[in-house]
Amino acid sequence: MTTVIPPPHPGVLVRYRRMLPITEDTPALTLGEGDTPLVQSVAIGRELGCRLYFKLEGCNPTGSFKDRGMVMAVAKAVEAGNRAVVCASTGNTAASAAAYAARAGLESLVVLPEGGIAAGKLAQAFAYGARVISVRGSFDTCLRLVRELGQHHPVGIVNSINPFRLEGQKTAAFEICDVLGDAPDFLALPIGNAGNITAYWRGFRQYYEQGGASQTPRLLGFQAEGAAPLVLGRPVAEPRTVASAIKIGDPASRDGALRARDESEGIIAAVSDDEILAAYRDLARQEGLFVEPASATGVAGLRRLHREQRVALQGKTVVCVLTGNGLKDPDCAVREHTPASLSPIEPTLAAIEAHLGW
Ligand SMILES: *Cc1c(COP(=O)(O)O)cnc(C)c1O
Repeated sequence: MTTVIPPPHPGVLVRYRRMLPITEDTPALTLGEGDTPLVQSVAIGRELGCRLYFKLEGCNPTGSFKDRGMVMAVAKAVEAGNRAVVCASTGNTAASAAAYAARAGLESLVVLPEGGIAAGKLAQAFAYGARVISVRGSFDTCLRLVRELGQHHPVGIVNSINPFRLEGQKTAAFEICDVLGDAPDFLALPIGNAGNITAYWRGFRQYYEQGGASQTPRLLGFQAEGAAPLVLGRPVAEPRTVASAIKIGDPASRDGALRARDESEGIIAAVSDDEILAAYRDLARQEGLFVEPASATGVAGLRRLHREQRVALQGKTVVCVLTGNGLKDPDCAVREHTPASLSPIEPTLAAIEAHLGW
């Protein structure tokens, strides 16, 4: 017999087995997701007067938090005997579904809104071998088609309307409590289809009820102004924002998000694309954290609520979820971060010094 050494990253299904709907027939699927760093802010926290931590969800195997829920949903699809999984996606769900399907030996089909997908995410879906369909329509249209597909064919739907997705995503709240030793005072995050805020609230409540934390945080969720159905109180027919991961006009988990806001005495507010891009640049330059645009929305939102004095952050412990990696959206990175010209110079020290003005 060989000795079995537990892996350093057992994945969320093994690590939080007792907190999740796992049976003896659920396969121990993992790509090493979860256990992501909680890194203290060095600049933006000082600006806001709080003890600010960033939860680096871009460190998950496919570069976004979607992996937490996807490992659970795909494991359950295997358990149910599905041969294929399908999802509508603004990109990261597709990348994650394709990766876990490949790992589990299932086929994956991803239905994407025409034009709206960041290049890195599309490359991932193809790389992992997904069948990719681009549809003339919005994300919301794609999700409707996926629901119809699920009614007519024996495929597992792995959008966040699949309850196992939210179960897996809860594990981020558990990790935050484990690392801090308690729940924070506030949790800030972007909202798109509203699954993540719903899942975090469930996770924090579960930990509190089981005695693992002395409190639950107030949840601060942020939408982009051009895609803010929860702030407006009605669906947005043509959502618009630079933050493609949250370009959603009719969130599937709307009720969960509103309940999370109300029960946690939290706030859901909107921020402009300019505010998102300012936070995107500052996260990289002041904190060394390169995220995709949607992932900067939490920082933009905290700044706006602080400026408008809608929350008192002074001295509080605040966790801001950075949902996805900056390399996901290279076009935005080039637009926002790269100088217009990068022309080669002569290969001499003198030329470099002249270029630098030293
Ligand atoms: C999916 C996603 C979001 C939005 O999360 P929802 O659960 O849809 O509200 C935010 N940021 C990134 C990077 C995402 O991939």
